[in-house]
Amino acid sequence: MRILIAEDEPISRKLLAAALKKMGHDVVGAENGRAAWETLQREDIRLVIADWEMPEMTGLELVRKLREEAADRYIYAILLTSRGLKQDIVLGLEAGADDYVTKPFDRDELMVRIKAGERVTRLEAELAERNEQLRRMALVDGLTGIANRRSFDEDFSRQREHAKRFSRAFSVVMIDIDHFKLYNDSLGHEAGDGALRAVAQLLAGALRVSDKVYRYGGEEFVCILPETDAQGAVVVAERLRGAIEGAKIPHAGNKPSGVVTISVGVASHGADAAAGDEELLSRADQALYVAKSGGRNRVAAWSAESPVRS
Ligand code: GH3
Ligand code: MG
Ligand code: MG
Ligand code: MG
Repeated sequence: MRILIAEDEPISRKLLAAALKKMGHDVVGAENGRAAWETLQREDIRLVIADWEMPEMTGLELVRKLREEAADRYIYAILLTSRGLKQDIVLGLEAGADDYVTKPFDRDELMVRIKAGERVTRLEAELAERNEQLRRMALVDGLTGIANRRSFDEDFSRQREHAKRFSRAFSVVMIDIDHFKLYNDSLGHEAGDGALRAVAQLLAGALRVSDKVYRYGGEEFVCILPETDAQGAVVVAERLRGAIEGAKIPHAGNKPSGVVTISVGVASHGADAAAGDEELLSRADQALYVAKSGGRNRVAAWSAESPVRS
């Protein structure tokens, strides 16, 4: 394990470093708390042994700073003190130190204290990884494996905010499978699930890397197209529509094509970036309604001249 030693006396630092290296650890040195803090900003180190008395920033101050500011990972801190007084130990632990060692240090004692630190940092790293896994899982749709509604809600408000702030083009595309109820009714719900998976993969495959598709719910999907104006969004939407139709997934009940098709509604902020997030989504939905009532398997874009009510 990589260990940072913050110790101002070169001889003590070398002695400690030699002992740690002998235990098989990788050692980085710093001559005061400030230098240690800077090293911790640059390097992924999880355990620090800090001398109490140091110029510029003491070990106690370093530990306090770690607990207040190093939020991205847990850094196990052992204070090194020649004082060994009860009130000092209390002060050190209160500041956020996990443990302490009195100088001159005893090798065996230091070894077991570092082992305890290793256990804690390993558990913490495992927990952080598990949490990250859960966080990722919470954003994925279980059936199709693409991003889910929650993920959309997060990305949509963030990306739209960015687009508005920097006056960038931005479009959203609503997709709904045509006569999907008939698909389930004639082929069964499981086949329906399979078709949903296939459609999700086809949509994802037909998008540019900058664009993303989400399962919005049921047999509805939604895409976020950053840096894309209305004209560009219609081109993308048309490509998505073509990709689904072109896959020729049999769907006898969907007349006249007899294959699975989608209807697509497009809304963009351009002239009217001021429209709220809900309003933009509602416009995409209104455009989708126009595509449906216009005969399905087509793309419609919302426009101020022809607002529709569903
Ligand atoms: P339209 O062309 O007007 O969209 O017709 P539709 O039949 O697709 O529309 P409707 O909203 O009436 O039906 C949606 C269907 O999608 C009904 C429901 O059974 C099906 N569906 C929604 N979620 C799932 C799912 O997770 N799995 C399966 N197999 N079917 C789903
Ligand atoms: Mg010192
Ligand atoms: Mg629907
Ligand atoms: Mg539908």
